[in-house]
Amino acid sequence: MSFVFTPPPAVSVPVVGTAERFPVRRIYCVGRNYEEHAKEMGFTGREPPFFFLKPADAIVAVDAGTTGTIPYPSLTKNLHHEIELVVAIGTGGKNIAAADATKHIYGYAVGLDMTRRDLQGEMKKAGRPWCIGKGFDHSAPIGPITRAAQAGDVNNAELYVQVGGKDRQRSNVSKLIWNIAETIEHLSAAWELQPGDLIYTGTPEGVAAVVSGDTMVGGVAGLETLTIRVA
Ligand code: MN
Repeated sequence: MSFVFTPPPAVSVPVVGTAERFPVRRIYCVGRNYEEHAKEMGFTGREPPFFFLKPADAIVAVDAGTTGTIPYPSLTKNLHHEIELVVAIGTGGKNIAAADATKHIYGYAVGLDMTRRDLQGEMKKAGRPWCIGKGFDHSAPIGPITRAAQAGDVNNAELYVQVGGKDRQRSNVSKLIWNIAETIEHLSAAWELQPGDLIYTGTPEGVAAVVSGDTMVGGVAGLETLTIRVA
């Protein structure tokens, strides 16, 4: 097969303990999936989960023990960090029951759902899509994927992000409104999941701005730390 121009390189994420990489197909994200974050955004209560996507090439994959870099994005004056547990799908499926969801998971990673909060807010107010606030270039930093068998008890793992060495967000995956298995059940009812799909499962309270020169260190207990600097 030949192409009219060179196809873009495959997007991929390192995997702990192997030189083989995880190829990325899609990035699904869950909105308002921690109660205290829903409240800080002006909402309350358990609503059905909702989803948005980022383009796969928004991934900025950072190797273990290294510091990645993202540019400060255009058009915004309010770039927010959202620390999230990321689920990597290894086996596809549709209408996956929560009880079967674990079988579809390849592994887990630490991710940041970077958000142009001012632009997202304008779009929300106008009832328009969030793409410009959420799906911009370099908006999905991610650390190495740890395979599920080695990841420990991610459903009860502490997660945090620090900026300049100080806590910004610190919570626990157990506080998810829709846990990992329930999220997969809902998501796979709307889209057929495929190997290579990533799910950013939502962020706890404490979202706030970063500026050029800031370094974010994000972690989920049992997974590789993600360190990334805003250029
Ligand atoms: Mn998010």
